[in-house]
This record gives sequence, structure tokens and C-alpha cells, in this order.
Amino acid sequence: MSATTETAARGYSVTRPCRHPPRWDLETDVAIIGFGAAGASAAIEAAGAGAQVTLFEATSGNGGTSALSGGEIYMGGNGGTPIQIAAGFHDETEALYRYLLMAGGPNADAAKVRLYADLSRAHFDWLLAQGVEYKNSFIPQRIVEPDTDDCLIWSGSEEAWPFCEQAKPCPRGHTPKFMGMGAGRYLMDKLAARVNALGVDVRYDARAVALITGDDGVVLGVVIRSAGQDAYVRARKGVALCAGGFVMNRAMVKQHAPWMLRSQHPIGTVDDGSGILLGQSVGGQAINMSEGFVTLPWYPPESLIQGIFINERGQRYINEDGYHGRTAHYGLRQGCTRLFSLQDSETYGEPAFGPFAKIGIAATGDTWEEVEKELELPAGALVSTVALYNQHAARGEDPLFHKARKWLKPLDQPPFVALDCRIDVCFYPSFTLGGLDTLPTGEVLDAARQPIPGLYAAGRTACGLPRWGEGYSSGMSLADATFFGRQAGRRMAQ
Ligand SMILES: Cc1cc2nc3c(=O)[nH]c(=O)nc-3n(C[C@H](O)[C@H](O)[C@H](O)COP(=O)(O)OP(=O)(O)OC[C@H]3O[C@@H](n4cnc5c(N)ncnc54)[C@H](O)[C@@H]3O)c2cc1C
Repeated sequence: MSATTETAARGYSVTRPCRHPPRWDLETDVAIIGFGAAGASAAIEAAGAGAQVTLFEATSGNGGTSALSGGEIYMGGNGGTPIQIAAGFHDETEALYRYLLMAGGPNADAAKVRLYADLSRAHFDWLLAQGVEYKNSFIPQRIVEPDTDDCLIWSGSEEAWPFCEQAKPCPRGHTPKFMGMGAGRYLMDKLAARVNALGVDVRYDARAVALITGDDGVVLGVVIRSAGQDAYVRARKGVALCAGGFVMNRAMVKQHAPWMLRSQHPIGTVDDGSGILLGQSVGGQAINMSEGFVTLPWYPPESLIQGIFINERGQRYINEDGYHGRTAHYGLRQGCTRLFSLQDSETYGEPAFGPFAKIGIAATGDTWEEVEKELELPAGALVSTVALYNQHAARGEDPLFHKARKWLKPLDQPPFVALDCRIDVCFYPSFTLGGLDTLPTGEVLDAARQPIPGLYAAGRTACGLPRWGEGYSSGMSLADATFFGRQAGRRMAQ
């Protein structure tokens, strides 16, 4: 029977579990769905603990979105990683905890944040043990991602208000020793080598199309479709859904996070929501589904941070020294598509990602009046915003938005420039932050927050550490995927 005929005959799908499989084609202890960072980390821990592990990957190779990424991981605490310490930083666990809690937003998961803050430093050692190398170096300037093989950067809003008032700032973005951008492929190569060395049975071109449950609701296994045939896989110790998020499933985005459709650049690989749908099919609760990460890589150079953002009413709306994702989120909330970054001749520098991010010059002038006119803004709106900002900046203050003193300077040196940051024109990439509700152990929870026996999830299929676009910092998604993937793998192997 072909897969489609069999599916139709038995009535299962990603949204409907298979209840009475005709046979077991394969038996294993642990079945992991998806060979990205979360799936690889789960497989390494489960296999390392002695479980028989089978990893199913829908595509013909490993890596998923993790391999497309910058490979940067958010780590610290317990005094700091050797790289933080060498750069002169002492990173308290409590500071990491408080930052992560705040970055997680109103729906932060305190239990996950606590566990990660306590063990993040040890997670760095785990990555080293998997063969991931880090150069002992720190880039103090504000950048998006190293384009060298350097490691430590300020990858979030640590030094910016209001975060700096809650937690002692420390740089925590760790990028592996890989020359150029895109260290995610390097990270995945190292994790995949470990997966293979541990004897994990990896099946490519093998897509999970339904979960298999017993009459009591326990997850017994998974239906895997490969070369047009369905195989019924019994997983004695559990199934882990590590299949990424749902940003590529535009119907799901429309349903749960319609505001994200304003970002015309979903970033990811498969990310079709199948992992989340599979979990929901057996009663798993998806939470925080309206949250996502959206950004505009408008710096470096960091001198641009000395400029100010305005909307098309000429109003400023954010302290510009936060993470680029935070400034982008506030921009999206302005109820308009035209946003501008105002610079004078001392702060202006060509945006490093300008051509790629389509950040052009919207207007120039020898006076702010000229710029305002060229942008066709309401008369006096931009001019009064700049005048007020300059008046405060001259005193080293920003009473409206609390930009840190080090970034404050009156924008009074002509010529003046308005950078074009239009939402419908520029590159505002996005990915989702909602997913299955899980315990720190990876166990998937139902609506009553009770674990569904036999079902686990990690990475963007789950709702983990990063859950708030306004608080997201680079490195949080891979920190979450690798660390909580490990927890799920270890728990399943028990
Ligand atoms: C350009 C870019 C740069 C980024 N940079 C960073 C960064 O530096 N630091 C950071 O923390 N985050 C970064 N991110 C975000 C981060 O990469 C992802 O959020 C993270 O990698 C998700 O990991 P994952 O294991 O959950 O999913 P993935 O890595 O996507 O793995 C999921 C896997 O599951 C497979 N799959 C999907 N459905 C099925 C199915 N039904 N059956 C079988 N297999 C299936 C997929 O093919 C895929 O291989 C970046 C993202 C992008 C796009």
C-alpha cells in the first residue's frame, strides 16, 4: 500500500495520531525527530547514557536551521566562561538569571531560566567536549555577528535600559572558532560527528507524519514516511520532537502571530510547524504562539547607535542602544511602515549590512528642516524631536528613553542623514518563539500541565528560554536548543 493510501485508510496525519498500527517495522529506545541542534544534542545525551537511539530527519542532510545560523550561543554565569574571564568580566549566575528572566518577557519560564543560569557555564564545557572550539577573544564593539573567528560579543541588550538596572551587564554571545559568518554549519558538523561516533542510527529522507498512541494516550512511537512508504516505529522510552518552529508555515503564522506577516523574510529551513502539530495531536499544549523574533540589522558601525529612530510622525520611540531585534520590535509597533534612523556627519557610517538589508538613504540636508521636508513629515515634528533630544544629549541625559550616556551626543553636525528603515522594503528577518509547553526535562505538557507519557520536545518545537521578541538576544535560541535538547535526551534514556 502506498503511503498516501495507507494514511487515508488509517486516518492518521500530523494532526491525528495513529491508534492501532498494523505492525512494528522498527523498534528503538528513543526516536528523535529532526537533526538540528536540538535533535543532535538530545541524541548525544541519550546515546551517551546507553539508550538505543534512532534519529529521523526529513531532509537529505543534517543541520536544519541550526546549520544556517551564526552558531552563536548565549552562555555565562558561575563567574564566567574562560573567555569572559580573560576579557575581564566576572559573570554572576544571578545576573545571568535576572537577565534571562527579563529577556523572557511576561511569559518567562522561571524553572528553565533557573536551570540554564545554574548550568550554562557547564554547558560551555559540554560543547568543548563535543569538539566545538572557541577562540579566546572578545570584540568590544557592538556588532551583529563576528565575521572573523573571534568569540565573545555583546549580543543582547545587557548594557541598555531597562535591562542594565535589573542585572549587571556582561557579554555572553559565544561564537565558535570559525572564520567568517555562519558558524552554525561548523557547530552542526561537530555535533553530527559526535552523533555518528556514538552509533546513533540516523535515517535521512525520513519524515515523521503521525504519532502513535495507545488507548491510554501514552505515546508509543511514530509513523515515519520514507520513499513513499510508511514505517511504524516503536519507541520504548520516548519520542522527542525536535523539528524546528513554524515560521515557514504562513497559514500557522497567520493564525497565531499575524503581526509577524509584516516581516516578509521568514528565516529557516523546513520550520513548517509539523513538530508542534504532532505534539498538539496527542494533547500537547502549544503556548506563546503569538511571539516571534524580528529584527533589522541596522548596526554596525556602532556609531549609528548615537543616532535616533523616528516614526513617520517624527516621534522617537526607543533607546537606540538595545539589541537590534528590540529596536526592530518597537519599530513594528509604530503603526506605520516608514521608520528612519537620523544621523549627523559625526555619527554616520555606512551600515555594514546596508546593501543586504536594503537600508538606503531616505533624505539628506544641511539642516534638520530640509531633512524633514524631504521626508514629507508633518511640519516641525522631526525638528522638535531632534531639538529636544539634542538639548538633553548635550547634558548627557536621555530622560525620555534612557539611552546610556556613552551613546549620547547632540546630532548637530551637518550634513544630516535619514536612513531608510521601511518595514515593507528593508530586510526584517523573523522566526517564531512559540511552541509546545514542556518541563525543563523536555516532557511535553497537556493543557492541565500534566506530562504526556512518552513525549518530549526541544528547540523551536518547544517554548523554551527565548519567548519574547523584545528581549531576545543573539545566541538564546541555540543555547535553548542545545541545552534543553540535552535534558530531553538524558531524561528519555533514564
Ligand atoms: C540566518 C540565521 C542565523 C541565526 N543565528 C543564530 C545564532 O547565531 N544563535 C542562535 O541562538 N540562533 C540563531 N538563529 C536561530 C536558530 O538557528 C534556530 O532557532 C535554531 O537553530 C533552531 O534549532 P532546532 O534544532 O529547534 O531546529 P532546526 O535546526 O531547524 O532542526 C529541525 C530539523 O527537523 C527537521 N524536520 C522538520 N520537520 C520534520 C519532520 N516532520 N520529520 C523529520 N524531520 C523534520 C528539519 O529538516 C531540521 O533538520 C539563526 C537563524 C537563522 C535563520
